[in-house]
Formats: sequence, structure tokens, C-alpha cells
Amino acid sequence: MMKKESLQTPKFPTELLIGDQLVRGEGVVEAILNPATGETLCSVNEASAEQVSRAVAAADAAWTSWSQTTAAQRAGMLLKLADLVEAHGEEFARLESLNCGKPYATALADEIPAIADCFRYFAGAARCMNGSLAGEYLAGHTSMIRRDPIGVVASIAPWNYPLMMAAWKTAPALAAGNTVVLKPSEQTPLTALMFARLAAEVLPPGVFNVVCGRGASVGQPLVEHPKVRMVSVTGDVSTGRKILHAASSTLKRTHLELGGKAPVIVFDDADLEEVVAGVRAFGYYNAGQDCTAACRVYAGAKIYDRLVADLTAAVSTLKMGSQDEQGVELGPLISDRQRNRVASFVERAQALSHTEITTGGKIRAGAGFFYEPTVIAGALQNDEIVQREVFGPVVSVTRFDDAQEVVKWANDSEYGLASSVWTKDVGLAMRTAKQLQYGCTWVNTHFMLVNEMPHGGLKSSGYGKDMSMYALEDYTTPRHVMIKL
Ligand code: NAD
Repeated sequence: MMKKESLQTPKFPTELLIGDQLVRGEGVVEAILNPATGETLCSVNEASAEQVSRAVAAADAAWTSWSQTTAAQRAGMLLKLADLVEAHGEEFARLESLNCGKPYATALADEIPAIADCFRYFAGAARCMNGSLAGEYLAGHTSMIRRDPIGVVASIAPWNYPLMMAAWKTAPALAAGNTVVLKPSEQTPLTALMFARLAAEVLPPGVFNVVCGRGASVGQPLVEHPKVRMVSVTGDVSTGRKILHAASSTLKRTHLELGGKAPVIVFDDADLEEVVAGVRAFGYYNAGQDCTAACRVYAGAKIYDRLVADLTAAVSTLKMGSQDEQGVELGPLISDRQRNRVASFVERAQALSHTEITTGGKIRAGAGFFYEPTVIAGALQNDEIVQREVFGPVVSVTRFDDAQEVVKWANDSEYGLASSVWTKDVGLAMRTAKQLQYGCTWVNTHFMLVNEMPHGGLKSSGYGKDMSMYALEDYTTPRHVMIKL
């Protein structure tokens, strides 16, 4: 049953922020959908090429004084932003859930506190950077290291966690003394546009700007703009490649956070109840549209059958539905296109003689872009479903015989973002974690992120680090100052 409140939609923010002006985009109109119904929520005009240039010019002009502020001054403003995110948490969660189809309750309980905490973390971290000692490394000369901001940063965000990804990119960039032009995904601009209104009250004009639009028409000119000194993107591997290519002519610094295909290694001695609860939660959270989703399970031969049976039973109890349904655990996919993509992966996996769809495997009839939570058993290492990122509520299970084989399989991937190991044997967990080529390895859990620790990948998952002091390092450059005594 839909609750009444779900019908009370907020007034949608549709204006871009350029300098100190909230303005309508002058480019083509983009319809913003509710993925749970397929209906249009509102429309947002893209930025024109001239507006992209104006946003970069505003950020460039603001940089001169913003880069000279003290860490304490910037921290004060980031703390105000955190307070505003929290104070408007219900509105943000409502917009995010409407625009992405996410359950409202989890957007409010999980995402909003993490976003506020991201701004708070970087407010503190900006004041705590450290490095090498000043000293005399050449007789009669004192050397010191500075860490300075880079300039105008173009931050390009995806649609799966729109405001959280915007926070991961803009909070460290601003904390370090850079100015920002944010481009949210053309499909999910609403929370970034609402955040822009609040940021305009707190930050000096031009320090933070938001332009909306598609990758080719707005993202590309932003990346190519000569006054943009760094580009940070979270998105698909193919997008990362295009951005690297576009950034190469002006030799910009790049920060890439791309896809993932997380292996979940379950040894025979693991606590199976914990494993099943973990994969049920973290394989299907956000309808599996998560670059760290627990989607590629490797199960030891002795527990394989039980794991498949218990996981199938658990996944078939997941409650799929629209934003405000009581107890809803996962919503629709972001678009019809994404749903068709997921469905085609499952169809191709199903066509193989050795696989079995033990639950799900179908598009849900009716309105919205829903796809049933799916388990594919019997998958083999070279199958497409094991090798490629699906970005939907689909988990494959593959049987393995020994620890060396499974490490080899887990690392046999283009991706290198996140992984997990499940065992009661600490030594086995540590040996396995050491050999995994992933930016993160969890032991006996999956998906847990904290602002103090880095998030980022290896191989085609990119090399940028979000969150933690490592992100502040990414958004600054070390400089040597030498004084002749
Ligand atoms: P996407 O690559 O289609 O788009 C990401 C952003 O890049 C959007 O804002 C888009 O408009 C922009 N873009 C596209 N082409 C561009 C171009 N040529 N120049 C400049 N900008 C361009 O990704 P998506 O579909 O929005 O998000 C899903 C992908 O993001 C998945 O592959 C997922 O794994 C990845 N992702 C990674 C992480 C991580 O931390 N590594 C986190 C979330 C999502």
C-alpha cells in the first residue's frame, strides 16, 4: 500500500548555479523521470556551451581568493554545509528517492548521514594534513614542502548515489582550496541542484557551480576547457576512457572512479548464515546498482549446494517496490535502458547449459523499471556474467575447489575495486586479502564504507581515491620551496 505522504512531492529545483546566479539552462530540455512509475517529475534544461564557459570562468575567478583562505575558514563553511544537508535531510532523501527510485527510508537513514559526515570529515581533515619535515638537504639551503590546491576542478557524478557521489568529489576538492564545477548525471540532477541553492548561501560566489546535461554536450566541453585543471569522474569504464582522452590535450590531472565486479570468496568454514544475510543485503542494495555490489560469489565445494539453496530462499524474500511501500528493500532500476541491459545479461547467462536461474530472472510487469532480484547458480569463470559488470540485482555463484584457484579467479578480472573474504580462519583471511588485487577487501562483511578510509580501485576500476586523507592528497599537489640561507 502506498502511503499518503508519497504523493506530496517537493517543488523541484531546476536551476543551475553559475557564480552567484541561479539560472535556467539554455540548452535542450531533459525530462527527469521517476523510475518507479516511468512518469516525468519535471524537466531540467541543459547548460549551453556558453553557460559551461561562464561556470568555469566564475570558478577560475573565485579561485584566486578561495585558494588563499585558511584551512579553518574553509572548514567552517564545510561544517555549515554538513549542518544544512542534515537539516534538509528529509527533502534531500525525498528528491533522491523520487529521482532514483530508491526506498525513501534507506535514502534518509543511510545516505544523508554519510553525506553530512563526508563534509564534516573533510572540514577536519583539511586542518590535519602532514608531510615531510622542512630541513637542510643541501648545505646552506632550507627546503620545505607545501601541499597546494590545483585550481578549477570539474566533478562529474553518476546516477546511482547522486548526492553522495557529489559530496565525495566536492568536499575534498573544496577543503583543499580548489573551486568546483559539478556536473551531475543528466538522469539525476535534482539533489545537486537543491544542494547548489544551499551552497550559494554559504560559499563565496563562484567557489561551487553546478551545470547539468549529458556527457557529450556538457561533460565533454567541461573536460576540454583549458581553465579546468583537474577532472574527477565516477562512472563507467568507457566514460573514464573518453574523459582521459579529452583531458589529454590540455594535460589535466584526472581522478577516475570507474566500475567494479566484486568477488565474494566464501570458504568452506565460513558462517553461512552471515554470508547469506550479507549477500542478500549487499548484492541487492540500491537494486544492485553499486560498483561494490557483492555480485560475484565464489563458494567452496563443500558448502556450495547449501549456499545456493539458502541464498535463493533468502533472495526470494527481498521486498521490491516503490519508494514508500512498507518494508521495501529494493526499488526499480534507473531507466528502461538499464533494465533492458540487465535483462539481456541474464538471458545470455540463462542460455548456457551449465547455469540455472534459481530465483528471479524476469522483468516485473507493470509500470516502472523493476527487475526481479536474481540468483544465477553454476556460473563458470569465463562466463560473461562472471566477467562483466551488470549493475543490477543479479548475483552469480561459482563453485571452487581450493584457495589458490579462487584467488586466481577473483583476480582474473578487468576490475579491481572491492572484494570480500568469508572464513573463520584469520590466517586464511589475511593470506587471501594480501593476494587480492582490489582497492578494498572486507573480511566477513562487505560494502562497509567510512569517510576515514579510502575508496578507489586498481586496473580498469581507475586510480582516484575518494574519502580519507588520500582524497585530499589527490586534490592537492606537493610543492617544494627552497630558501638560500
Ligand atoms: P556514466 O559513465 O554513463 O556517466 C557518469 C557521468 O559521466 C555522468 O554525469 C555522465 O553524463 C558523464 N559523462 C558521460 N560521458 C562523458 C563524456 N564524454 N565527457 C564528460 N562526461 C561524461 O555512468 P553512470 O551510468 O552514470 O553510472 C554507472 C557507472 O558508474 C557504473 O559503471 C559504476 O560502476 C560506476 N560507478 C563507480 C563508482 C566508484 O566509486 N568506482 C561509484 C558509483 C558508480
